[in-house]
Amino acid sequence: AKELGKNTYQFYASEMNVAHHVSHLSLENALRFALERKQLQLVYQPQYDLLTGQLAGMECLIRWCHPELGLISPAQFIPIAEENGLIVAMGDWVLNEACHTAQQWRLAGLEVPRIAVNLSVRQFKPLLLVNQIKLALSSSGLPAHLLELEVTESVIMKRVNEAVEILRELKLLGVQLAIDDFGTGYSSLSQLKVLPLDVLKIDRSFIEGIPANQDDVVIAETIMILARKMGMSVVAEGVETAKQMQLLQKMGCDVGQGYFFSRPIPALEMQALLKPIQSNKLIAV
Ligand code: C2E
Ligand code: MG
Ligand code: MG
Ligand code: MG
Repeated sequence: AKELGKNTYQFYASEMNVAHHVSHLSLENALRFALERKQLQLVYQPQYDLLTGQLAGMECLIRWCHPELGLISPAQFIPIAEENGLIVAMGDWVLNEACHTAQQWRLAGLEVPRIAVNLSVRQFKPLLLVNQIKLALSSSGLPAHLLELEVTESVIMKRVNEAVEILRELKLLGVQLAIDDFGTGYSSLSQLKVLPLDVLKIDRSFIEGIPANQDDVVIAETIMILARKMGMSVVAEGVETAKQMQLLQKMGCDVGQGYFFSRPIPALEMQALLKPIQSNKLIAV
């Protein structure tokens, strides 16, 4: 894949390839090694305000660059890391990397929108998580309101009562909270109502079907109305075509994310998308 040049980071090693080369146990060991030896990296996917066209945020996505197998998809190694508990250290690395990178950009005089990090179910524990977040914020100096935490609908709904408590504690830190992959996890509306969420991300599976599939159009539109009534802003994930973007715009969707706008990109490319901070908003260093 190396010969393909610049954009090859977006192509994963095939599942077959990975399964063929490494048994589950050695994958686990390799993952441990990867965390220690800096084979993990973050890529950043821009999110755009559908009203103004401005950069509205970004999502951090983890990548494993295996020296022999190439790029391995998080779908392949996150489940293993969750099983063996390595996800806690890995998630901590992601949080710190994201916060430090964002703060470095700010200190370089760039305007940084909110930066979203995905949380695993294993990280979603009251004391552990709040401490991880506090430390990542204080050691980087990133203002809390610029950090957004994404939790999937299914993680939240697994134990709603506990989730409410955790989310409330996180809100007290001043971070933004997003519910990820919404529409796939059977939320009841009465439960959704009690969650202190700022952002709702409509799952890609519904965006895929619009505008052709009338059911998906209705579902996407209904989710948006629901979110708005509950005071959340809406991000559509997996926007791949101009037609999807236009319909989402018409529906009043706030933010779009997907290959139509940009693939997830390395830090340097993300940095190039950031504008210098306006002088009247210069931060004290
Ligand atoms: P997610 O949080 O729902 O992230 C969105 C996924 O959709 C990403 O896949 C992204 O590359 C992909 N995507 C974005 N736009 C498009 C599009 O237009 N079309 C299509 N087909 N796909 C698009 P990725 O990076 O492979 O990540 C997969 C999942 O792995 C993520 O889903 C998230 O659940 C998990 N993940 C990624 N990074 C982390 C992490 O640091 N920690 C944890 N716990 N999970 C992570
Ligand atoms: Mg996500
Ligand atoms: Mg998502
Ligand atoms: Mg998704």
